[in-house]
Amino acid sequence: MTNTFIPYGRQDITDEDVAAVVEVLQTDFLTQGPQVPAFEAAVAERVGAAHGVAMNSATSALHAACMALDLGPGDWLWTVPTTFVASSNCGLYCGAQVDFVDIDHETYTMSVSALSAKLEAAQAAGTLPKVIVPVHLCGQSADMEAISRVARAYGVKIIEDASHSIGADHQGLPVGDCRYSDITVFSFHPVKIITTCEGGLATTQDAGLARKMELARSHGITREADEMTHAPDGPWYYQQVTLGYNYRMTEIQAALGLSQLTRLDSFVARRRELAARYNQLLADLPVTLPAQHPDTNSSWHLYVVRVAADRHAAVFDALRAAGIGVNLHYIPVHTQPYYRAMGFAEGQFPNAEAYYAEAISIPLYAGLSDADQDRVVAELAKALAVTQ
Ligand SMILES: *Cc1c(COP(=O)(O)O)cnc(C)c1O
Repeated sequence: MTNTFIPYGRQDITDEDVAAVVEVLQTDFLTQGPQVPAFEAAVAERVGAAHGVAMNSATSALHAACMALDLGPGDWLWTVPTTFVASSNCGLYCGAQVDFVDIDHETYTMSVSALSAKLEAAQAAGTLPKVIVPVHLCGQSADMEAISRVARAYGVKIIEDASHSIGADHQGLPVGDCRYSDITVFSFHPVKIITTCEGGLATTQDAGLARKMELARSHGITREADEMTHAPDGPWYYQQVTLGYNYRMTEIQAALGLSQLTRLDSFVARRRELAARYNQLLADLPVTLPAQHPDTNSSWHLYVVRVAADRHAAVFDALRAAGIGVNLHYIPVHTQPYYRAMGFAEGQFPNAEAYYAEAISIPLYAGLSDADQDRVVAELAKALAVTQ
């Protein structure tokens, strides 16, 4: 048996995906044509949102979402430490200050009790955040009903970072319908559930927020007469009415996304099947399996096991040496050098730090075979045995 490398995640590209991309290359529009609006409408419909705004990455979409919510200097954005740096960097792009809310020690998403306590203290200190960004880690929705109840009592806006969770459900309804948030952001990076190479998309039920994100995405330029400060000079006319960026998605990316979206349900079904299989196969090993909140039905972007901190590095190394592409999601953002330089320090968010000391993401993607999954399980068992 050849021991080929098994990555922790990878894209699934078919001949149909390739054909969809090639077809666009043979049309007149490589950008600003029909594919992007079609992709936006399809994603919005799939997740039950009124509006979808596609961008060149989830990072851009998070920035545009913060801009649409008027986040700026003097404001605060809070997210969790256990996330990719983009979830908090979006606040810094707007000139806001960033702080963190620790994760729940079982679900690894934003702790409702920590949020509640921190909001109470912030109100007393006059430092309430304008925006919070809960993250649906691994594809499991944060406890959005409780988070929104607590946050909205203080007038705080909510952006869901759903980069891991297109196709996931929360209380039986799709993540992305924004019933407990203002805006939801998805990522289509190749390791995520569906891909557009690079790409992201923001959904919202609010037409005004959607329009603000469209302006942020394309230089703050409008061609709509009713958005202009004075009447157009002529049919060539456009006006820049706000400061925007070039965050547009291409037609090629949107065509790939549309093609991928037709397989979203089968991707998520296979990920759920593999996760259930891991739950069974790993049940007797000395690892902590991922706990699921009863309100959620995860899209299983990641499958994370926890091993005792004193064996963590050895188990990680043994798996890598055996050709198993394990990874660690995530290093707590507040411990990154850039954030330490702002004054953050180790010890501030104990649950996120304890998780970091023990977490290992093991391979999970729609194209993972049962046989390869069995090999991951066997290697993990071996690594745990020899490090005992
Ligand atoms: C991948 C990811 C992002 C950034 O997505 P890009 O599309 O790569 O910009 C943001 N937040 C989380 C939680 C992610 O996993």
